[in-house]
Amino acid sequence: MIVVKAGGSAGLDMQAICADVAEFTQQDARIVLVHGGSQETNTISEKLGHPPRFVTSVSGHVSRYTDRETLEIYTMVTAGRINKSLVEHLQRLGVNAVGLSGLDGRLLEGKRKAALRIVENGKTKVLRGEHSGRIERVNAGLLLTLLQTGYTPVIAPLAISYESQTVNVDGDRAAAAISSAIKAQILIILSNVPGLLQDVRDETSLIAHIPLAQAQQHLEQYAQGRMKRKLLGAIEALQQGVGKVIIADGRVSQPLHRALAGQGTVIQ
Ligand code: ADP
Repeated sequence: MIVVKAGGSAGLDMQAICADVAEFTQQDARIVLVHGGSQETNTISEKLGHPPRFVTSVSGHVSRYTDRETLEIYTMVTAGRINKSLVEHLQRLGVNAVGLSGLDGRLLEGKRKAALRIVENGKTKVLRGEHSGRIERVNAGLLLTLLQTGYTPVIAPLAISYESQTVNVDGDRAAAAISSAIKAQILIILSNVPGLLQDVRDETSLIAHIPLAQAQQHLEQYAQGRMKRKLLGAIEALQQGVGKVIIADGRVSQPLHRALAGQGTVIQ
């Protein structure tokens, strides 16, 4: 089984990704596709007059403040338009795709974070009304049932809290949690870069291999912004039994073929 996380950010070639998913599933590979939605949520939020607000946590991470209205827009865009257009596309390619969010069948369950401790103008503040969360449980049985009966799950990164509220979760961490829960052999994280770069402005500075024991150090030394979450997800997945994580380019033709051929950053 292979878990593929594709995007959120602009520039990914979703048609090429779907074409590869179709080819591999036709060869009997079992694939779970996890997608993102942050970029388009920002665009639609602007259009709806509720522009995104980004905050810096006390630990220095920049994240979206997900108030109730943002959560509704995020749900509409991610579990709606993006998820359904991927299902449509895969169905057209002959893949029996089933679109689900982490809410459905309590697929992804975790703790809601209702308040954020942020730093603003040098001061620490508590921001309430947050609707994000962290996945602690995966309904692997649901995914395995679908996979074993020939369906290809397409997952939108939303989760359900223990109190049954919808929460926004990070797509890379969701893909990591899913891959360890179903004991996937490989997790492929496709992004708009060739992999982990020594210098984010230089695409030729790719780091091709990272042993798991050095992944944390690479995270601290090279990854900035959202690349940190990809490495964090990779570490979590490997620690929980996934065989290999590949962070690879999602802007190219045949992205899964290339990733599986080792093009990208292979963490093992
Ligand atoms: P996605 O939305 O596809 O999940 P993100 O945009 O969240 O992807 O994360 C990928 C981004 O991480 C890249 O576009 C790049 O700007 C940033 N990044 C930060 N540090 C690095 C690094 N060392 N190597 C590669 N990318 C990095």
